[in-house]
Amino acid sequence: MLEDIFEKIKEYDNIVIARHIGVDPDALASQIALRDSIKKTFPNKKVYAVGSSSTKFNYFPKLDKMEELNNAMLIVVDTPDQKRVDINNFDQFKYYIKIDHHPFIEKYAQMEYIDDKASSASELVYRLITTTDLEMDYDIAKTIFLGIVSDTNRFLFNSSHKTFKIISDLLEIYDLDLPSLYSNIYMRPLNEVRLQGYIAENLNVTEYGLASIKITNDIISQFGVDSGSAGNLINNFNYIEEVLVWVAISEDVKNNLIKLNIRSRGPIINHIAEKYNGGGHHYASGARVTSMDEVDKFLNELNEACKVYLENLGDNDENK
Ligand code: AMP
Repeated sequence: MLEDIFEKIKEYDNIVIARHIGVDPDALASQIALRDSIKKTFPNKKVYAVGSSSTKFNYFPKLDKMEELNNAMLIVVDTPDQKRVDINNFDQFKYYIKIDHHPFIEKYAQMEYIDDKASSASELVYRLITTTDLEMDYDIAKTIFLGIVSDTNRFLFNSSHKTFKIISDLLEIYDLDLPSLYSNIYMRPLNEVRLQGYIAENLNVTEYGLASIKITNDIISQFGVDSGSAGNLINNFNYIEEVLVWVAISEDVKNNLIKLNIRSRGPIINHIAEKYNGGGHHYASGARVTSMDEVDKFLNELNEACKVYLENLGDNDENK
């Protein structure tokens, strides 16, 4: 399949690379690394990495403004369903390829390379580059490193021997400067750390291990952070004994939305997120709702999932 993707890349002179809305570092890294590798290998091709970004990801090479293109191929990375592809004119392409590491939702491309055991979309792009004649350089290596490190939360999740081998190779071949790369990803304003303290103080935890925090617009303003950064703080609440599933509920007044960032170290959560205009991985998902009533319904479902998970654990213990 990787060779087939390479053949298609050879065939098309105009290539657009897109990824999901609600940009994150792995989505950006995988599309930018792929763009830069194709451009390095085939300097005469027009290759665009498109979608909206955020200033907090300025440490990545820049995205492109898309031009009107004829006879173009679209490659979508890191996106399991068509409705979340961050592109306006999805229908205008001649050929479609998907490269993704999410659990399968729907087929929307003629060629789909999916490995939901892979750490990240960046790992898949690395595989594509290194098993075909696509070229790599220091900057591409850096971008891939940033994507893998971010999506695994520094190797806490989904990291296999393959992931560590890639990282080892990147460090050995390109002599990457870890402190400067880590500061790109992990440097944050004091306000965010203070909000993290607020969350720790105010986390509501049920008897079945569902932790949630409502980060209202007032709290967001009080701490002077944006609602996206507030929700991302959820990643810092793993490995708490009393907590199985944890959710940040952030008001986004500008877009008239309530964003849910959900993580789990037990029950599978993406099928619940899917019922609330969301989705994602088994243990890391997101959703969007418009009222606190929906949030409460969602939390009840998650709490029930935690309860069932604990009961099953108990049953298994008894059978030992
Ligand atoms: P986040 O909590 O935003 O870091 O997202 C965790 C995972 O869930 C990522 O794989 C996202 O692509 C996915 N995800 C987040 N929000 C949504 C959504 N509204 N719909 C589908 N997937 C989502």
